[in-house]
Amino acid sequence: ERPSLHHGSPDSRLVVLAGPTAVGKGTVATYIRENYPDVHLSVSATTRKPRPGEVEGVSYFFVSDEEFDRMIEANELLEYATVHNAYRYGTPRGPVDAAIAAGNSVLLEIDLQGARAVRRAMPEARLVFLLPPTWDELVRRLIGRGTEDSAEQARRLQTAKLELAAQGEFDYRVVNTDVGEAAREVVDLMQIRAATTS
Ligand code: 5GP
Repeated sequence: ERPSLHHGSPDSRLVVLAGPTAVGKGTVATYIRENYPDVHLSVSATTRKPRPGEVEGVSYFFVSDEEFDRMIEANELLEYATVHNAYRYGTPRGPVDAAIAAGNSVLLEIDLQGARAVRRAMPEARLVFLLPPTWDELVRRLIGRGTEDSAEQARRLQTAKLELAAQGEFDYRVVNTDVGEAAREVVDLMQIRAATTS
């Protein structure tokens, strides 16, 4: 636990979930959305195309490059990054501010660059790194979901190695062996409150 947490600080309700490709960040985030309705799950904007089953406004806001540029210009994004050297992803600022102002906990499921940007913008945010049980299991999950071709899989595994090396920057590490258990660990972090003010 970080001793610098200010009791009652709104930012203490903001949790960032990051981790390598295919570790199950999205699955854990979806599980939290479905089982912990008090947690506000941020919906990112992205320039990539929807995958089968993804729903506009729930999985992502799917936007054009022009619209993404406009959001940056209008300062509507809390953070944004180009991920896997391909598409852009960003966190809309308005819903996050509104949820925090309403006293809700907010979960951001974003990449390592985004986590670092949030750390700079909101030092009280809690950064959680989701780990696979083993490297081989990570490779198995990526190939198993079958949503990327082999060139893209190789690119993501390269990124994953870099991301795993950065886990020390995070406040907490959670191993994703069982999605329900991992989700509970993440949600438990949102309920940590400083026992006393300093
Ligand atoms: P995918 O295309 O598989 O849905 O997501 C690719 C990567 O983009 C994941 O690592 C995911 O965490 C990251 N990502 C999703 N939304 C955001 C966002 O709003 N900001 C940043 N920085 N990364 C994001």
